[in-house]
Amino acid sequence: MLQQTQVERVRSHYYPAFLAKFPTLSALAKASLDEVLAAWSGLGYYQRAKNLHKTAQLHPQGLPKSFEELRKLPGIGEYTAAAICSFAYHQPVAVVDTNIKRALCRLFALPNPTPATLRRLATQFLHPTRPKEHNLALMDLGALICTPKTPKCDECPLQSFCQAEDPLLFGQSKSQKRENKTLHFGIYAQEGRLAMVRSTQKLYEGMLLFPPAAPQSQPLATYRHTYTRYNLTISLHPLHTPPKNAIWIDIKRVQEHPLASLVTKGIELLRQKLVL
Ligand code: SF4
Repeated sequence: MLQQTQVERVRSHYYPAFLAKFPTLSALAKASLDEVLAAWSGLGYYQRAKNLHKTAQLHPQGLPKSFEELRKLPGIGEYTAAAICSFAYHQPVAVVDTNIKRALCRLFALPNPTPATLRRLATQFLHPTRPKEHNLALMDLGALICTPKTPKCDECPLQSFCQAEDPLLFGQSKSQKRENKTLHFGIYAQEGRLAMVRSTQKLYEGMLLFPPAAPQSQPLATYRHTYTRYNLTISLHPLHTPPKNAIWIDIKRVQEHPLASLVTKGIELLRQKLVL
């Protein structure tokens, strides 16, 4: 949930609402994919919701307890498997997130270690009897003290051990440049309902999107939206007939449908402009 949504919004809204709706793996397993995607609407990275749903269906009574078995589940990579083992099961497994990676690179003066080297090092460095606290402490160290641009070395409890003479030479991740993209969608509304289509594009697969449309000189609305590595410019154009494969949604009950923020933002804008 935190991939592209601020902690406060997840904590105050998305996380409690999702857990209230699906309090157990078995409740999540029994829900339809549309219900799960609707609860995930606005969080982005919809593949995550689908993977959670698939995993719940594979293990409705509880997740496996070993790192290797967890790794086999949809969407669970090394980091998530290690985090579950450490934080949920208190197993001696090293967790390496971006913050821990940066701190380790600096502590051991490693300019560009491979993931395997980092994991080996993190495992050797792990506290033998308090691995969970160790992982949490390193996460906090990376997030609050050993920060990317201005590490607070004077406040760092590991300063005497740290091998980085110039911390900024180590553990810097390359910032990814966003790509600009323009998308054109069509709007067809009838009796309080709006025509949508089920997306087959990888980015929004399974979600409902506005139907595609050819660009027109006078769009109903144009707005910007940032999603994963894209800066999107979106234009909404009037359609004169509904799309063949239309899925109709009630404009007053949009929250019940699996709609991406790109769509809810567009609907809100059309409401403000009194188009809907
Ligand atoms: S001493 Fe500085 S560079 Fe080294 S781990 Fe601490 S904050 Fe990071």
